[in-house]
Amino acid sequence: MNSAFNPRLASKYKNNSQIIRVLSEDWVNNQVYCPNCGNEEINHFASNKPVADFYCPKCAEEYELKSKKDTVGNKITDGAYRTMIERLNSSNNPNFFFLSYDISKLEVKNFLVIPKHFFVPTIIEKRKPLPPSAKRAGWVGCNIILKNIPEAGRIYYIKNHIELPKKEIISIWKKTSFLKKQTDLSAKGWLLDTMRIIDKLGKKEFGLDEVYAYEKELAKLYPNNKHIKDKLRQQLQVLRDNGYLSFISRGKYQIAS
Ligand SMILES: [Zn+2]
Repeated sequence: MNSAFNPRLASKYKNNSQIIRVLSEDWVNNQVYCPNCGNEEINHFASNKPVADFYCPKCAEEYELKSKKDTVGNKITDGAYRTMIERLNSSNNPNFFFLSYDISKLEVKNFLVIPKHFFVPTIIEKRKPLPPSAKRAGWVGCNIILKNIPEAGRIYYIKNHIELPKKEIISIWKKTSFLKKQTDLSAKGWLLDTMRIIDKLGKKEFGLDEVYAYEKELAKLYPNNKHIKDKLRQQLQVLRDNGYLSFISRGKYQIAS
């Protein structure tokens, strides 16, 4: 994987945002492999498809691309809020490629993929409506909140200029593909919240009590649920049944490697 943009393309355009779009699309087209099946080729949709920008010709996974200058940051600005929520509810959202670039060097600084099965309403933030003075007054956009996505759902091909091996990317992708089966968004939300708690614990082995310590935090997210602990135990069971965790002894779990 070569992190440099093709500089010859840049000279053809004047408008900055157009230059970035052309450079980043060209880069994905030439450098990025499919994280789902490993196919070396990812193609750009010929016509302007409303939701996705790229697809894998081998496994048909679809990808939307967003680019940003410098750092990845905490939020990614995306399109209309309502469209996003509709897409999540009908589960026709694509996977998400995110690229951050260093414009002075004309190269990619970070590149990550967020699998579509990590998209639940809790990672989407509604933005303020555009003011009356704006061309599209009243229009409401959205942000994707990165910290609300478990680490396993932020898969970096390149992190701070350092490339990760392809084998690793594909294995991280596979580890959570069981989430695709869960089409009920609220059930999936519980699974992802539990994964996020496990991330926060920051260790390979942990006890049930450490997970229960987040009961209050979850009670705020799910005010109508009176059985938070039962729910958490159930999620750990599902994560274990799908090979994301293994069970060491009573009340003790380990993250599968
Ligand atoms: Zn593929």
